[in-house]
Amino acid sequence: MLIQNATLDWIDNSPKSTEFDDIYFNTVDGVEEARYVFVEGNNINARLADNSPLVIAETGFGTGLNFLNTVHRFIQHKNTKTKLHFISAEKYPLTKRDLQRTYANWPQFNVFTEQLLAQYPIHTTGFHRITFFNGEIQLTLMLGDATDCFSKLNARVDAWYLDGFSPSRNPDMWTSALFEKIALLSTPHSTTLATFTSASKIRKSLQAVGFDIKKRPGFGLKREIIAGTFIKSTTPVIEAKPWFSLPKSARPTHVTIIGGGLSGCSTAYSLAQRGIKVTIIEKEKRLATAGSGNRQGALYAKLPVTPTKQGELHLTGFLHTINLLKQTDPTQSFWSQCGVAQLATKENEKIRQQELIDNQHYPTSLVQQKSAAELSAISGTAVSSSGLFFPDAGWVSPVDFCHALANHPNINIVQHDIKLIEHTDQQWTLTNNSSERLHCSHLVICNAELASQFEQTKHLPLKAIRGQVSLTADNADLPKLDTVVCGEGYISPAQAGIFCFGATFDLKGKQRDVTQHDHDKNLTKLADALPEFHHALLKKKAQLSGRTAFRCSTPDYMPVVGPAPVFSDYIDTYARLRKDKNWRFEGATAQHYPNLYVNSGHGSKGLITCPISAELLASMICNEPLPLPKTLIDSVNPARFIIKNLIKRAI
Ligand SMILES: Cc1cc2nc3c(=O)[nH]c(=O)nc-3n(C[C@H](O)[C@H](O)[C@H](O)COP(=O)(O)OP(=O)(O)OC[C@H]3O[C@@H](n4cnc5c(N)ncnc54)[C@H](O)[C@@H]3O)c2cc1C
Repeated sequence: MLIQNATLDWIDNSPKSTEFDDIYFNTVDGVEEARYVFVEGNNINARLADNSPLVIAETGFGTGLNFLNTVHRFIQHKNTKTKLHFISAEKYPLTKRDLQRTYANWPQFNVFTEQLLAQYPIHTTGFHRITFFNGEIQLTLMLGDATDCFSKLNARVDAWYLDGFSPSRNPDMWTSALFEKIALLSTPHSTTLATFTSASKIRKSLQAVGFDIKKRPGFGLKREIIAGTFIKSTTPVIEAKPWFSLPKSARPTHVTIIGGGLSGCSTAYSLAQRGIKVTIIEKEKRLATAGSGNRQGALYAKLPVTPTKQGELHLTGFLHTINLLKQTDPTQSFWSQCGVAQLATKENEKIRQQELIDNQHYPTSLVQQKSAAELSAISGTAVSSSGLFFPDAGWVSPVDFCHALANHPNINIVQHDIKLIEHTDQQWTLTNNSSERLHCSHLVICNAELASQFEQTKHLPLKAIRGQVSLTADNADLPKLDTVVCGEGYISPAQAGIFCFGATFDLKGKQRDVTQHDHDKNLTKLADALPEFHHALLKKKAQLSGRTAFRCSTPDYMPVVGPAPVFSDYIDTYARLRKDKNWRFEGATAQHYPNLYVNSGHGSKGLITCPISAELLASMICNEPLPLPKTLIDSVNPARFIIKNLIKRAI
């Protein structure tokens, strides 16, 4: 969903919010004041000397000054093992240009602001995770209303920066409802808070949710401000959906992954970046030979007309993958941000696209409506119809992406075809097709639809959908193509002299051979989208080769990411749902297999869903703040099918 930018007045080069008629920071010594109030107020320097990761959450990102001050301290004071997670909510984000203008005031932060601006998200609601210094620092920027964002956050917060504009100018940032969410995310006798206000109403509201509040001297002319420690929760915790509770585990030193495609390699990368040793077990000689083995895939999110969970996941995942690609391949050697044209070749798609534009849910930096002539000019070849253009989208070679992700000093790759997994003596034992055994403490199943071969995950409704892509050599007789063009199918600009287009979508097909019948289907889709290109192909009697693979899909077209539930225990614990779907299960949580996780079911969208799912899983395994809102985490939880089927009385 589109979010409204901050509207500003400028006093010299310092921004002032016209919305709240208030300044973002003190123009004389704002950096020092913010450091005193929030960093010192929470005793951050001393806590950075500790070994454990520090989680700081803030109400009101604004210009990011508190983040920059904290990162500055982190770099100066940190113990090498410490990691910093900074979480911030912002309802009216500044534009990149306004941030650039503000940052001209603070050259001392250049090394951080450059990284922040390079990854700063487009302005859509939701969670956006940005990493700095190879993952040592993570910023989770939640764009939206603070109370809503914090109610969807899964994290334990060590220190709170209560910022935002003053309570009299922005009362929404100081409500009891927000403070209750803050209390729910705090740990008794450990979590602290600091703020610039000393208003007695705020003090009392914070005390009411369980904080012990003390006054401290203010900065400069300000007499006093407050800080506090969370003592005990006064807010009852109501777990509405206990079946989605996530098990806590101690951070492992080593994790084993079955499957070396996009999901396995991106999970390995996210864990390896956290300093965890990873073994990828792949049954083939090379990585990425199954679903992830195509030459090129389209990198874009097909946006829904009105917001849906799937649309939110795809958009968040798309932005996340772009940032990851920029980090792993800054020169775009195996991907290209050449833009994607999504044509409206059919009347119903024209209507859908018009509605999408009229609804104004997405910023024009993400998607723009274009005529056929405009898209032809952008694509470099004649397209058949008007459509949408995604300037930041493009194509990726999934094979090269997998290799780049797995090329990490903490990742080891071995070849085994795993036939059986068992949990005995507090560890997982994996048996391969030669009856050899391997052992590990933590296991992630990333072998797409073949997850159904394991007893523990055979209940997952994973379905293989056959798809064939067609390949042809680039040739002087063919029109040039500068962007990816999608209609009913898609074609990417040639990579290393080969065009890749397709793909068929065959729900029942099982055969692995490349067929002429499927080439014909791909050619028909190409003719619908790029008639001149298609004509030129036929004229030169182009030779086609191809490749067949299977997409691993689920009934709700969402991936399956999270801890593996024990099917029988879920059935027993939540049997009552068969009779009453609204039954309240007080304190009843069903079991998960110890340290067993799944990352699968990425369907036709693995390029945008695998990396964000990997980040989610790695954060879960390491007990870190999760990068997605609870609503989305629940919607990919592997236990969801058991619950749906109990309610439907299908099991
Ligand atoms: C024709 C086609 C076109 C597509 N186009 C696009 C696109 O344009 N854009 C997009 O975003 N996505 C696209 N996708 C989807 C995307 O490629 C997939 O979502 C993604 O590759 C899934 O990755 P994965 O790691 O889950 O599965 P896979 O890549 O299939 O990886 C699973 C791995 O597990 C291994 N394995 C299986 N069983 C075992 C075992 N017992 N022991 C050890 N190893 C095992 C397999 O050998 C395999 O390497 C397309 C897919 C297809 C098939």
